[in-house]
Amino acid sequence: MEVLFGGSFDPVHLGHLIVAEAAAEQLGTTVRFVPAREQPFKRAAHGATPEQRAEMLDLAVAGNPRLAVERIELTLPPPSYTVRTLQALARREPGNRFTLLLGADAAQELSSWHEVEALPGLAELAVFARPGAAVPCHPLIGRVLEVPSVGISATLVRERVGRGRSIRYLVPDAVRDYIAARGLYR
Ligand code: ATP
Repeated sequence: MEVLFGGSFDPVHLGHLIVAEAAAEQLGTTVRFVPAREQPFKRAAHGATPEQRAEMLDLAVAGNPRLAVERIELTLPPPSYTVRTLQALARREPGNRFTLLLGADAAQELSSWHEVEALPGLAELAVFARPGAAVPCHPLIGRVLEVPSVGISATLVRERVGRGRSIRYLVPDAVRDYIAARGLYR
């Protein structure tokens, strides 16, 4: 069994890494970050490209054998529907079982997911609480995880870069260097 953690990761920050590490530990398995190909409604002006978001994830997980980056959505036609991603993974890795890692905020929107009725055959769900969002009661939610909460968001990181403020300790050092070297989010 492997855990999948999807998002835009524009950019990945310590909030994401804390969640992934906690999930890997509690579920005793590897967590793969799955960057979405495009997030048209979330994309900030001068945001990173999909490949740049994946490269920042590579830098963030380097040296941690429990964390990995899954680029499958970058090769699928947009938009990145979770059910379609899971179907593509099932074709590529028949026999492997997957657990989707979701924040309570995302879990509250489950019923409106594209083709949600196909989900039970494709993956189990593990949900973690987030400040301001209670874990919903849903028949598909198998596990509720404890994760330390930190008030970091990618929006906060992008805004700080845009205003010339420090993002040290909000993202891994290698990600901070990558953002600076490419002039992202300015
Ligand atoms: P943005 O600020 O651009 O909306 P984000 O920081 O929320 O981005 P996403 O790429 O949307 O990041 O994150 C993917 C998932 O990570 C989200 O569904 C959310 O549940 C979770 N997440 C993001 N930030 C945190 C955090 N600080 N603590 C715990 N979970 C987080």
